[in-house]
Amino acid sequence: FKVSMVNLNTLVEEVSETVAATKKRIRIQPTLSKNIPDVKADKGQIEQVLINLVLNAADAMPDGGDIFIETSCVEGRKINKIASLSDEQTYVQLKVSDCGHGIPKDIQDRIFEPFFTTKGLERGTGLGLSTAYGIVRSHNGEITVESEINKGAIFSVYLPAVAEDV
Ligand code: ADP
Ligand code: MG
Repeated sequence: FKVSMVNLNTLVEEVSETVAATKKRIRIQPTLSKNIPDVKADKGQIEQVLINLVLNAADAMPDGGDIFIETSCVEGRKINKIASLSDEQTYVQLKVSDCGHGIPKDIQDRIFEPFFTTKGLERGTGLGLSTAYGIVRSHNGEITVESEINKGAIFSVYLPAVAEDV
């Protein structure tokens, strides 16, 4: 665990550049909220989470397309339905959305399990999301998914924000 102050906007910009250089048919569309607080995190690990989400989004759009990445700051008490997040904590949200084939409802609960893949043994390891989940949970955060078939998938990562000095 190599912890430092990490700015998710900077991370999104860095990962977007890498993806732009390697995935020609994918366009990253970032919407970065100004002045978001930092998170105290292992930068390499959080980068891995974002890369795993972006690669999955790209896989879901074999003909290419847009991946939308948004950052924002949100109060824990306003995030419903996620029991492990604290009402008293402020979180930075990292949202990755694609316009791909989507995830059937009946497998949405299983995609975070190690070795669960729908891509076949040749192409998928089934480890991307379980790794992402482990990293996010070890940072006291959460990761959620929403998806509708043929419309795409939305993954949200919530990480505790570092309190601003007053
Ligand atoms: P892998 O990418 O090796 O299959 P992951 O753990 O990264 O393993 O993802 C597990 C499964 O979740 C994928 O095989 C796929 O079925 C589904 N999945 C993940 N992200 C998306 C996405 N953005 N759109 C559609 N399906 C997805
Ligand atoms: Mg993957």
